[in-house]
Amino acid sequence: MNSPVTIIGAGLGGLVLARVLHVNGIPSRVYEADPAPAAREQGGLLDIHDHNGQLALRAAGLMDEFRAVVVPGRQTMRVLGQDGTVLMDKADDGTGGRPEVMRGDLRQLLLDSLPPGTVRWDHKADGVRALGNGRHEVTFAGGCTVATGLLVGADGAWSRVRPLLCDATPGYAGTSFVETYLFEADTRHPAAAKAVGGGSMIAPSPGKEIFAHREIGATLHTYVHLTRERDWFAAVDFTDPAAAAARIAQEFDGWAPELISLITDADTAPVLRPHYALPAGLRWDRVPGVTLVGDAAHLRAPNGEGANLAMLDGAELGKALAGHPGDTEAALAEYEEAMFLRPIQEVTFEGFEVRATDSEGNPAQVLLDMINEQGR
Ligand SMILES: Cc1cc2nc3c(=O)[nH]c(=O)nc-3n(C[C@H](O)[C@H](O)[C@H](O)COP(=O)(O)OP(=O)(O)OC[C@H]3O[C@@H](n4cnc5c(N)ncnc54)[C@H](O)[C@@H]3O)c2cc1C
Repeated sequence: MNSPVTIIGAGLGGLVLARVLHVNGIPSRVYEADPAPAAREQGGLLDIHDHNGQLALRAAGLMDEFRAVVVPGRQTMRVLGQDGTVLMDKADDGTGGRPEVMRGDLRQLLLDSLPPGTVRWDHKADGVRALGNGRHEVTFAGGCTVATGLLVGADGAWSRVRPLLCDATPGYAGTSFVETYLFEADTRHPAAAKAVGGGSMIAPSPGKEIFAHREIGATLHTYVHLTRERDWFAAVDFTDPAAAAARIAQEFDGWAPELISLITDADTAPVLRPHYALPAGLRWDRVPGVTLVGDAAHLRAPNGEGANLAMLDGAELGKALAGHPGDTEAALAEYEEAMFLRPIQEVTFEGFEVRATDSEGNPAQVLLDMINEQGR
């Protein structure tokens, strides 16, 4: 392949693809909407699994770099009851298969692994069109265009490339996160810090859960997970942080104060993050010269797998292209068949390793079922 592969989106999926192509001697250009690498906060800890995300990093030849950014001790996992009772506490002995890294560190190590100039920042794809014979043209905000023989949409949930393949669009998944942070928690919020422990903590209940991570230092990053319709959240005034926190906390009436304080004592305004998903089992007929990786192809409500699968998609596509020199269509067909067949969600929730056939993959429900089965 002589002309560069055109990748839209410099998220984890697109960057792993660019890197695996690079180690196989295939040039690529990644066009990213963000104006600069640090333009946007990249989010918190991600656990990178030995059976998907780490396989991708291995294919990218970046395992040493990955190990260097792992945050020690953060695989510690505990499950708490609503009254704060510790139901399960699994220490991080350093041998677990899901080390935690800051998403920004992972993205940066991938960026650093690419030849200078591979990523074209400030290139938001606005439109795409077929030119015939498997070629496509991308138009960027500002008007410049690029024509390509291989276009890969790694541009996430609201992909501009996806319409070339199918007409599916994400719909509200019925759940949302409300996100909060507590800083210097060991000294400023000791009860909450003790409840979360050294890694991750989940307090599950049907239709709602509180999940928190200890990030770098003593920052507690909490995701309150609620199964509610959009209208319900629309009635919460998120422009008034204290009132919003109080309203969300009301859903956990009677729960242990140290759990509720993760919401009401937050040092940041609560942020609503609605979850969207593409139809489960989405697939399309082969369209010459174009494909998708990651959320663009199979967006799900967060279940601990999305980033891992995006990276694996990128690596598998890179390997398929390297394995079929001169036959892009064979590579894309091979890649897509395997990608479509990864629908069985591997709901791998920290200390648990659960293979669920439920394509919605609701970790809280899986967790509850397990706890109930254990007679707790
Ligand atoms: C709150 C939350 C928590 C999560 N936690 C986890 C977790 O713990 N573990 C896990 O595995 N997954 C997690 N996920 C899911 C994970 O974030 C996604 O599945 C993953 O980021 C998908 O990677 P991607 O590369 O496909 O897309 P993205 O990460 O969305 O990257 C897409 C890139 O494309 C760029 N882009 C978008 N549109 C355009 C355009 N038109 N032109 C050019 N560039 C464009 C974007 O700026 C972005 O850089 C979580 C998701 C959320 C919302």
